[in-house]
Amino acid sequence: MSFSFENTFDYAREQDRTDILHTYRERFLFPQHNEKDVHYFCGNSLGLQPRSVSYLMNKELEDWGKYGVEGHFLARNPWFSYHHLFSERLARIVGAQPDEVVAMNTLTVNLHLLLLSFYRPANGRYKILMEAGAFPSDQYAMETQVRMYGYDPNDAIIEIAPRAGAYTIEEDDVVAAIEEHKDTLAVVIMGGVNYYTGQVFDMERITAAAHAAGAYAGFDLAHAVGNIPLKLHDWHVDFACWCSYKYLNSGPGGVGGAFVHEQHGNNPELFRLAGWWGNDEKNRFKMQKGFVPQNGAASWQMSNAPVFNMVAHNASLDIFEKAGLDVLRQKSLKLTAYLEYLLRQVTHLSFTIITPEDPNKRGCQLSLLFAERGREIFDILTEKGIVADWREPDVIRIAPVPLYNTFEDCYTFYKILSEIK
Ligand SMILES: *Cc1c(COP(=O)(O)O)cnc(C)c1O
Repeated sequence: MSFSFENTFDYAREQDRTDILHTYRERFLFPQHNEKDVHYFCGNSLGLQPRSVSYLMNKELEDWGKYGVEGHFLARNPWFSYHHLFSERLARIVGAQPDEVVAMNTLTVNLHLLLLSFYRPANGRYKILMEAGAFPSDQYAMETQVRMYGYDPNDAIIEIAPRAGAYTIEEDDVVAAIEEHKDTLAVVIMGGVNYYTGQVFDMERITAAAHAAGAYAGFDLAHAVGNIPLKLHDWHVDFACWCSYKYLNSGPGGVGGAFVHEQHGNNPELFRLAGWWGNDEKNRFKMQKGFVPQNGAASWQMSNAPVFNMVAHNASLDIFEKAGLDVLRQKSLKLTAYLEYLLRQVTHLSFTIITPEDPNKRGCQLSLLFAERGREIFDILTEKGIVADWREPDVIRIAPVPLYNTFEDCYTFYKILSEIK
């Protein structure tokens, strides 16, 4: 795909005028700066609040007030089956069957729960392969998982780093390392999109390589879900987890999600830690002895659904449904390409875009690595009403998200940056 862009305010305005998603912006609440909406480029960190959340939250409060315990069955969205509200919509977003996904817990908790099923060292297989410089929570999770079984993280965790002088990781290196460790490898677990560089990994290829080596493949989709096209089922990914407060706009600490491929989800022999909510639903309230997992990812649930923590998720997934994933991706490709085009006109500041140039290798985020003055420039941007994200020691991440960012946002960002002395 190629675009012929112009770096003028009028051009940006015109793109917004003809953007079929332009009105979606009105469905969100924007923080204010000098009594105007900020230019919000932080949807990769915390998505904005859908306006419908307070109304929907009130509905749940009313039902609790009106029905008390009977709300499990009588509430407008009965709490007994509340998590079912999300299956179809989440399945579309991650490319899965409805039974393969569940909204539950939070990301790191889900990562641990899934590793308890898919990382079970045996027969000399005890290693975990991951990207170097993964998000700290993921690093801590792997470190403590291998320690739990008595292994030394320095031996049991294989980290794949970018080659000397590069910022992104070569998939050939990932595949080569998988082959090299094929007799000792238990699990490959990577980000779908690296949180720092914005690099998208070829999940299908990595999964195939892991399977050829006799290992499982799992993905942390924190920065992928709601951002790039996913086909977890067709790619034969074994398991995945994500949070919902980034691109999915479901609020701080909002409910996370998990995917378990049906070949595992429907296998009652696969070990999982159990609670009553994962049990066969017909017998949930019979209080019987002996865990009988229901089919699918939902059997990893332990506790009853945190209804109030799911309201924003419900609101946001409705917006995704209305907008349509293909339409969102089309706009995202153009919007990020426009921002990239504008940034390339800024030659007086010393930064490098470390996100891949290939649109298939990135979502909406661009990461700018500053050789100098990074923090100072970030502070100037903030003063001018730009909300971006600072990552120590020298990176500014900006994510124009197709649901609520505009071409004008990108142009304004460029204008402010280009005017920094
Ligand atoms: C945001 C993010 C997390 C956060 O984990 P929580 O358990 O939701 O606090 C973890 N891993 C990655 C890769 C992330 O981007």
